[in-house]
Amino acid sequence: MSNELEKLRKELDEVNVELLELINKRGRLVKKIGQIKEKQGMKRFDPVRERNMLNHLLSHHEGPFEYSTIEHLFKEIFKAGLELQEDDHRKALLVSRKKKPEDTVIEINGEKIGDGHPHFVMGPCAVESYEQVAEVAEAVQKQGVKLLRGGAFKPRTSPYDFQGLGMEGLKILKQVADEYDLAVVSEIVNPADIEKALDYIDVIQIGARNMQNFELLKAAGSVDKPVLLKRGLAATISEFINAAEYIMSRGNGKIMLCERGIRTYEKATRNTLDISAVPILKQETHLPVLVDVTHSTGRRDLLLPAAKAAIAIGADGVMAEVHPDPAVALSDSAQQMDIPMFETFMSELKQSALVERTL
Ligand code: PEP
Ligand code: MN
Repeated sequence: MSNELEKLRKELDEVNVELLELINKRGRLVKKIGQIKEKQGMKRFDPVRERNMLNHLLSHHEGPFEYSTIEHLFKEIFKAGLELQEDDHRKALLVSRKKKPEDTVIEINGEKIGDGHPHFVMGPCAVESYEQVAEVAEAVQKQGVKLLRGGAFKPRTSPYDFQGLGMEGLKILKQVADEYDLAVVSEIVNPADIEKALDYIDVIQIGARNMQNFELLKAAGSVDKPVLLKRGLAATISEFINAAEYIMSRGNGKIMLCERGIRTYEKATRNTLDISAVPILKQETHLPVLVDVTHSTGRRDLLLPAAKAAIAIGADGVMAEVHPDPAVALSDSAQQMDIPMFETFMSELKQSALVERTL
């Protein structure tokens, strides 16, 4: 290699390092600007400011590059700066692992959800009568399950379908739960009902159809009661995480996320169980993550394999629906388990070595 080439390459290496230092110096400035914008509630992306910066560069440009090349290179630098600001913003999410590296564990009725062992939330789709709930509760208790689900306020697709027993349903759940030493998980659909429901339920469920009902999220975030937040029918993981952030930003950090399937073009199942959402949510947030195998699959024959998959991939819990006589159920009759099937479901799971502890 000629001396001349070696010299030029050495010089180029030095320029590269200078450029690197300058790009990082620019990055630090951009971050500071981002913090000021955040405080003032200003938008991070400002195309007018970008245009002014490009014009300023143009007035200083001497070549040898084409100006269009410079414009392209700086556009990439601007974009990288914007991403830095957004990263900072994302880092600030209260539900994120970046904010709190250790797992959140929520204690309900002696169950520690998020402790590394799978937990179960079982019960009918809807509360229909005292007898119906009590029959399921007895079977649930026999299996060592501590959390009883049941819908009293049912968000139905058709306004002519059974809408649930409302407060009456919550009272039934509370009575049965007290008799069988269970904790109650039940959906609330109206922010105004949250306060009233506190005396009857142990976990506020926010359903898929209400994942972005921001007033409901804020109301649930303002009370001291665990919340089970379901993923919306067509919500991205980022929208799901932000919905949880709405709750936590109001002070309530006791949130469980629940993957319940999303709408896709697939018709073989009621929804498509997005199983990879479980490890993604576990990585991105510190919250416990549950999987609802009933609403995601909509098929009894898939409940057990889906539950095994959920536990194997790291879910903190499984939700499924159980009814004494699914054929006559007022909702979700095609997919609820009857009691013998529920018993088989639980014993198969316990034998699968996925559920190590004795339930
Ligand atoms: C439910 O769990 O009762 C329910 C209605 O589920 P989702 O909100 O996930 O549809
Ligand atoms: Mn249901």
